[in-house]
Amino acid sequence: MPVSFPAAGRWIAGSGPTLQTINPATGALTAELGTPTDTEVAVTCEAARQAAQHPAWRRMKPHQRAALLHRIADELARSGETLAQLQMVENGKSLKECRAQAASAAATFRYYAAVCETIEAATPPSRGEYVNFTLHQPYGVVAAITPWNSPLTMEAQKVAPALAAGNAVILKPSEITTLPALELARICERAGLPAGLLSVLPGHGRDVGAALINHSAIGMISFTGGTATGRMIAETAARRLIPAALELGGKSPHIIFADADLDAACASVLDGIFEGMGQSCVAGSRLFVQRGVHDAVIERLRVAAQTLRIGPPEAAETQLGPLASMAHRDRVESYVALARSEGGRIVAGGSRPDGLDCERGAYYLPTIIAGLSNAARVCREEIFGPVLCVIPFDDEADLVRQANDTVYGLACGIWSQDFRRAWRMAEAIEAGTVWINTYKQLSIAAPFGGFKESGLGREKGLTGLRLYQQVKSIYVATA
Ligand code: NDP
Repeated sequence: MPVSFPAAGRWIAGSGPTLQTINPATGALTAELGTPTDTEVAVTCEAARQAAQHPAWRRMKPHQRAALLHRIADELARSGETLAQLQMVENGKSLKECRAQAASAAATFRYYAAVCETIEAATPPSRGEYVNFTLHQPYGVVAAITPWNSPLTMEAQKVAPALAAGNAVILKPSEITTLPALELARICERAGLPAGLLSVLPGHGRDVGAALINHSAIGMISFTGGTATGRMIAETAARRLIPAALELGGKSPHIIFADADLDAACASVLDGIFEGMGQSCVAGSRLFVQRGVHDAVIERLRVAAQTLRIGPPEAAETQLGPLASMAHRDRVESYVALARSEGGRIVAGGSRPDGLDCERGAYYLPTIIAGLSNAARVCREEIFGPVLCVIPFDDEADLVRQANDTVYGLACGIWSQDFRRAWRMAEAIEAGTVWINTYKQLSIAAPFGGFKESGLGREKGLTGLRLYQQVKSIYVATA
């Protein structure tokens, strides 16, 4: 009996084709899930439209909505271990990282509870005999579409602010990682979220995802995933004239100047690319090193990469689990083969590890490649795996030219002890997030999103709630 899903206020098995999720560490079947047909997607959308318009939800006071979000956060915190295990058996991330992401999901709901209760609207200066103020109202039904790399955090980052803003949400998780979204829906139900306000529709993006975003009830799309898919979603949104927030891919530069604290910089570079096996949108996948310290940095990284402990994700000592699927490992391997054919020198990794069952588990060694220019395909395309390309630079101008020579603009890390220089670089690099002498420091309170083809709109922070609302200007005559 396939796992059921919440649609239109009740849990159904769905009449669409069954979906299977696989544990990438063992190759074993994790779950068989029901999926909806187009008709069931449409019924869910209509029910969400009604749920969003119900006066009890529309008129709920901000402090009451905040109390509900706090109850969801409490339930999330209580279910942290279950959520972490569900994510781990579907995407293979280490249990330690999954636990941290479950905790961050609870914190996200708490943050948006606080924002929802305290955020204020504007009263623009009056230019006549009237008072003018702004009202922020929900779009109605939000379609949230998420990828497989960090479903716990991404889904909380969409569902919490969208509900805080007063919408109903229909979540379409990645076909690879569906169980965390279903558990989130159960948790919201236990916390008292009224029926129909959060539905989860498992299935393939091209079927269920496409049917969802094309339905007339959907008033806004919030998407995280690859740039090619994001472009298709944007085309649909443009045709339907509805807003779409797009968090897309990256090929982020991590930069080491010769005056940097090399110990700290190298440790951060390794975490920045290899944590989560490089399956992170902000992975620092292009390392630019000032020529004077280029060889020394490569040697440090080579030695340190070999000490990273790769193994079963549930083992306490494991730092790196498998990749999220066999198909994804094939893709990573084909990129490393491409790097070799482009003349790259494999400094570390470049193969599957010994001593692990790589026939059943999608394991791959953390890989460092030198000797390629920024023009090489592996330096231009998002690999989304544990592959770091090291590129030398001469001076600031050379660095800015190379670092910005990419279609992406998601993140950047700068290591230098000269604060003025770091600041100049932070201003010059085209990226939505810049870290100076740190990397992957993330906060739910800070806006997050991409420049260029890395996305449109900003999630998180106060703007992360406004993303799910439209503004109404009201004028009241005083004369
Ligand atoms: P995809 O773009 O392949 O898929 C993302 C989601 O979109 C999945 O749920 C997918 O469904 C769905 N989808 C696919 N096609 C359609 C369609 N035609 N209509 C509606 N939905 C569709 O990305 P991945 O899942 O492979 O995730 C990796 C990508 O995500 C990387 O490029 C990465 O950079 C990006 N990412 C960006 C982040 C950011 O914040 N900027 C954060 C994390 C990841 P299904 O898979 O079920 O077919």
